[in-house]
Amino acid sequence: DAFRFFTAEMNAQSMARLDMENALRRAIDNEEFVLFFQPKVNIISGRISGAEALIRWRRPGHGMVSPALFIPLAEETGLILPLGHWVLETALRQQARWRDDARFTHLNLAINVSARQFRQEDFVPQLLQLLAQTGANPERIKLELTESLLLQDVDSVIATMHALKQHGLGFSLDDFGTGYSSLSYLKRLPLDQIKIDQGFVRDVLNDPKDAAIAHTIIVLADLLGLAVIAEGVETVEHHRFLQEHGCPAFQGYLFGRPEPLEAFEQRVLAG
Ligand code: C2E
Ligand code: CA
Ligand code: CA
Repeated sequence: DAFRFFTAEMNAQSMARLDMENALRRAIDNEEFVLFFQPKVNIISGRISGAEALIRWRRPGHGMVSPALFIPLAEETGLILPLGHWVLETALRQQARWRDDARFTHLNLAINVSARQFRQEDFVPQLLQLLAQTGANPERIKLELTESLLLQDVDSVIATMHALKQHGLGFSLDDFGTGYSSLSYLKRLPLDQIKIDQGFVRDVLNDPKDAAIAHTIIVLADLLGLAVIAEGVETVEHHRFLQEHGCPAFQGYLFGRPEPLEAFEQRVLAG
């Protein structure tokens, strides 16, 4: 009986997975996705310097689905390739609109790129073609990469980064300190920025170890000549601690949640 129960449960699980996979496939054809924008704030101006584009799935009958629920499956199944391409194209098109609008021309746009997507043989020509097609300003685009990219064949990752950097694109290392990175990669990768993971920021006031790690990342970035931004900044206390320890840029609910384009633009205009 126990065995049957287990199998039934496993079947239910793999059915749900298959359901989700099929729905995801259809969603790509039907363009059920939308980009939200979360503000990034700079300490010097105190103003919004740009946004991170975060995907949402408007799944019929399910409301707005979080990427945490479908990006991992998209990565496993390879659907992240068409999906990631859609994200790039949509984000670049948005940056091109901002570029032509004096009110928004200063905005930087950060785009998440999955390891599998970045490792595509033709990722560089794909991106260059999208830049040409959309007219986006590469100097205002930052690709957010995660440490999972460093699990294998780092040399080719570095080569791809260099090729894109030549065209003006920037790179940020997302979720820094949570993955497999070794400090020597910070030396070898042509990064522009590291992002302090929200896991360290969350307890920065209660856990001296998190505080030490956050502080150390800020100092390390500074000494390496890299920019640094803290994510998951939810409270004025988080903000104050990070600011007092030299962090120059912030992202988090304190400054704004990820929101639809119109709301984000209104926020920028409200200044
Ligand atoms: P991420 O790149 O680390 O994005 C930050 C996540 O933290 C976002 O979740 C954001 O909504 C959330 N967040 C922002 N500020 C706060 C805060 O103050 N407190 C808390 N608790 N959370 C905050 P989201 O939008 O659900 O995205 C989850 C993950 O899904 C992202 O993590 C990223 O890994 C992935 N993702 C999202 N959009 C894309 C995309 O277009 N392409 C790829 N490849 N991955 C994406
Ligand atoms: Ca990110
Ligand atoms: Ca992150």
